[in-house]
Amino acid sequence: MQQYIDKYDFTGKKAIVRVDFNVPLNEKFEITDDTRIRAAIPTLKKVLSEGGALVIMSHLGRPKGVDPKFSLKHIINHVSELLGVPVQFAEDCQKADAQAAALKPGEVLLLENLRFYAEEEGKPRGLAENASDEEKAAAKKAVKESQKSFVGKLASYADCYINDAFGTAHRAHASTALIAKYFPDDKMFGYVMENEIKAIDRVVKSPEHPVTVIIGGAKVSSKIGIIENILNLCDNLIIGGGMVYTFVKAMGGKIGNSLCEDDQLDIALDIIKKAREKNVTLFLSKEVVIADAFDNNANTKIVSNMEVPEGWEGVDTAPSSLERWSDVILNSKVVLWNGPVGVFEMPNFAKGTLKVAEMLAEATKKGVFTLVGGGDSVAAVTKMGYADKVSYVSTGGGAMLEYLEGKELPGIAAIRE
Ligand code: AMP
Repeated sequence: MQQYIDKYDFTGKKAIVRVDFNVPLNEKFEITDDTRIRAAIPTLKKVLSEGGALVIMSHLGRPKGVDPKFSLKHIINHVSELLGVPVQFAEDCQKADAQAAALKPGEVLLLENLRFYAEEEGKPRGLAENASDEEKAAAKKAVKESQKSFVGKLASYADCYINDAFGTAHRAHASTALIAKYFPDDKMFGYVMENEIKAIDRVVKSPEHPVTVIIGGAKVSSKIGIIENILNLCDNLIIGGGMVYTFVKAMGGKIGNSLCEDDQLDIALDIIKKAREKNVTLFLSKEVVIADAFDNNANTKIVSNMEVPEGWEGVDTAPSSLERWSDVILNSKVVLWNGPVGVFEMPNFAKGTLKVAEMLAEATKKGVFTLVGGGDSVAAVTKMGYADKVSYVSTGGGAMLEYLEGKELPGIAAIRE
């Protein structure tokens, strides 16, 4: 049965906590962005403040085996600083029995990178490129077999399990999903997970309407899963960015050199049809900013999205379209934004994306619930200084997108079932 971090009694208990400490490091192995570590601190402090002890586990990067470059050693001091207590380190996550057993209330043990072991992800490593199907199947079976003792060992260190790594919740890995079975009555989400789920559920299961979803970015193909699911729950769907031109071409417009996925034209038409059937108002950036080169200093002009001349390409959303969106956004109860609505990496084409961030901030002030998620839109709001002016910024790129697609995430299911 699922437990709740705010109600659970941690006194004298050891909690094994899966966090996402997969932070970027520079060439001197210094942390360049500690957002993910900071995010987990409230959960970790909660356990310590209630007289519990912590066994912390995470992955870092994508090592192919033991590799000092990806050691969690590099972050011990920073974690210790943020927690305000010393952090012990287990050099091998599978040989931490004695250290875990000796932990006293208030003490912290950080395990070495879980992905030093293939068993964490449950995928075989080191297979020859020309391996036969039988060899592949045998290697897969072997790693799945040894995964059981790998998970069992991790579970043996603690009395309860907390999953606070939303960023890996869409993966059925040892530490994110399988381990939960060892704690049938002592498993729970940490605050990061609780907050992410709550925020996304306010969109996905929103009782408050109108719900408006803004989807931008480069490709229809990478967003199709979300768009199809979101059509079932939103009232307004705003499409911006490079995606627009696949729709425009599908509708018979001229797109010049704009981005387009020719294999998605039928899908684009299908989305338009479904939106109509489901009474979702679709906004497709009626007017766009076009440039005569993919260059910040290119010449630009504003045209109808159906009339992009040869030699020109769409690079941003025009002010007239943004104005229409503004009305829709300000009159919504819930707004989700995923993906930039222009080539925001180039300052001259970042105006539309900046304006969307501004509109969300204004809507938030009015009491609209605004959620921003997905790598590039998070980067955009953060870079533009709007991260704390919207209701919630999701940290879990891939996990959030899969949740929005309506998929059940293994990391969430393992705690709930
Ligand atoms: P995604 O990862 O699918 O959210 O796409 C983000 C990328 O889409 C960013 O790198 C943007 O520069 C790019 N993008 C947005 N609008 C356009 C556009 N009109 N033409 C080309 N790329 C775009």
